[in-house]
Amino acid sequence: MHLARFPRKHFAHLPTPLEKMERLSAELGGPEIWIKRDDCTGLSTGGNKTRKLEFLMADAEASGADMVMTQGATQSNHARQTAAFAAKMGMKCHILLEDRTGSNDPNYNESGNVFLDDLHGASREKHPGGIDMNAKMEEVADQMRADGKKVYTIPGGGSNATGALGYVNCAFELIAQANDRSLVIDHLVHATGSAGTQAGLITGIKAMNANIPLLGYGVRAPKDKQEENVFNLALKTAEKIGAPGVVKREDVVANTDYVGEGYGIPREDTIEAIEMFAQLEGILLDPVYSGKGAAGLIDSCRKGHFKKGERIVFLHTGGAAGLFGYTSAFDFK
Ligand SMILES: *Cc1c(COP(=O)(O)O)cnc(C)c1O
Repeated sequence: MHLARFPRKHFAHLPTPLEKMERLSAELGGPEIWIKRDDCTGLSTGGNKTRKLEFLMADAEASGADMVMTQGATQSNHARQTAAFAAKMGMKCHILLEDRTGSNDPNYNESGNVFLDDLHGASREKHPGGIDMNAKMEEVADQMRADGKKVYTIPGGGSNATGALGYVNCAFELIAQANDRSLVIDHLVHATGSAGTQAGLITGIKAMNANIPLLGYGVRAPKDKQEENVFNLALKTAEKIGAPGVVKREDVVANTDYVGEGYGIPREDTIEAIEMFAQLEGILLDPVYSGKGAAGLIDSCRKGHFKKGERIVFLHTGGAAGLFGYTSAFDFK
């Protein structure tokens, strides 16, 4: 397969760094822990959605759209990166935000990613939790089309086969970096939500026959549902890149033990993970995704699931802007 055949806007700062986390590795006393810095993709404090948007926004441009529309939770990192990407392309951006947590905290509702959505000039509307947001978005888009706007809709998280190409490409990039420094990756782990990141990664890994086990730590759905979502998208992604059938159901593995009460509600171990990364490595995680992924990583090390001598790569998917919506979850004495 040859990804250069797909239209793409080269806006991300790539390759993102691959670094060893010396102090976190020493603290956990077991495996060597590395970090792939997709929090450093460049646009508007970075994050994983920028890789997907490189392909999605090129497709939007090719379709002749003058406006992009997407949806997400109130503190959506995807919405913020879409707003920034649209600004750089001179396109309008409209965002539908879903209240998934019911929080009344003014920081949660107006600061962090929401502040940045406004700063990038996007328009936004809010909806109660639990409705079918992709369906709602299509309804709003149809109304705007009736008014003469040329709207391109992007599903939540940018997770379709076009967006997942960004993470097929990330798998190639990471494996090339590891090859160049003779780093054998025993496990690759990350936070998984709308499934595009994991689906793209597993498709890339399998298409290269790299034999690297991939593990997604869930942030919302139960294990079976999450794995099913990732697998279905991986099937479509593999087909799109001309490698149908490379991903098998058993290649898709999620661990959803660290979700807690629900999406966007941090647990004690989420906060502990965020503080450990901040205080041992100077790295910012977030309370919705990367903090839960890191809590899973830390617990897996402590329980000996990842063993001494193994090399683990944690893909940092970003999200630090969301911290400013969650200051009340921290208690510094
Ligand atoms: C969206 C997001 C994820 C999850 O990626 P998916 O492709 O939606 O599974 C993980 N971390 C952060 C910070 C995100 O914004």
